[in-house]
Amino acid sequence: MIVSVVYPGAVTHALDLEARARAALLDAWCVCDYCVPEPDVRAVACRVALRDAVVVLDARGPVAWRGRVSVARLDMRSGADCLLGQLYGDYGSGLRALYGDDLDELYGHRENAVASLAFTSTFPRDLWLPVLAGYAP
Ligand SMILES: [Zn+2]
Repeated sequence: MIVSVVYPGAVTHALDLEARARAALLDAWCVCDYCVPEPDVRAVACRVALRDAVVVLDARGPVAWRGRVSVARLDMRSGADCLLGQLYGDYGSGLRALYGDDLDELYGHRENAVASLAFTSTFPRDLWLPVLAGYAP
């Protein structure tokens, strides 16, 4: 017999963690393990940023963007070989294409700011691989 126990705080805790992760992202403006040192918060923060970034790309990115990124070339530390670099020529052009020239639009809106962190140099490259292979984040 299998008995599963869901303790009452489980759902609340998961929501807490996501809220803490979003706050950590906006506090640090970075997802590296120095800026977001708690591993569980960092893992959720990266997942949140990735999920938001995929929504942005699906809505405003190039058609069939997943198929336009070379996994072999993908290097988040390179302005040309990062995800936006490959899709738009360079990282900065990608940000402008997705968010416009108005940086207030990018940094002044929490959702945009969180999503954009998944495009930055410290974002774990490997988290993009399942997305590029067609799996939902
Ligand atoms: Zn950092």
